[in-house]
Amino acid sequence: MGKKLIIFTDIGDTIIDEGTEQRQGEVVIRAECIPGARETTLKLHDAGYTIAMVADGLTASFHNMMNLHGLSHVFSAWVISEEVGEDKPGAKMFQTAMQRLSLTDADKDRIIMVGNNVIRDMRGANRFGIRSVLMDWSDRRSFEPQLPEDVPTYRIHTPSELFALAEKLNAELEAGEAR
Ligand SMILES: [Mg+2]
Repeated sequence: MGKKLIIFTDIGDTIIDEGTEQRQGEVVIRAECIPGARETTLKLHDAGYTIAMVADGLTASFHNMMNLHGLSHVFSAWVISEEVGEDKPGAKMFQTAMQRLSLTDADKDRIIMVGNNVIRDMRGANRFGIRSVLMDWSDRRSFEPQLPEDVPTYRIHTPSELFALAEKLNAELEAGEAR
């Protein structure tokens, strides 16, 4: 049974610990997951959530990392800046994810964007008109908003908190539909 809530997710410092990345040239050949991220991502998929990757970087890097951790099958769409030709916070990244999932503007209230970067992920999602979820697990970047539109809709600290948030937001969406 599919869930009403749709999850767009960043990868670096949202699912993968960027501090563990090993590269061959520009391409990441291996990296570890943030503790609990693999389990949470699989749990969301198994629970029926549609998940799209919306990530800046090289296509080969994401295939290497997701294959390594057995996560390739959980993504219904892979939206990677190398292919799209634009980085977040550009709207094209989010628009491409919606198109690949056959979603329309009427579905925007069903979508959350999960990420660690207040400019790429929070500003990008907020400007695009979807809700934003800041995961502040990594301390590699500042979480200080530079503009009002950088403020996340929701804030969590660890991947495991994402499951509870998703369940809550999905229940709200389903209750709204039933009215
Ligand atoms: Mg990131």
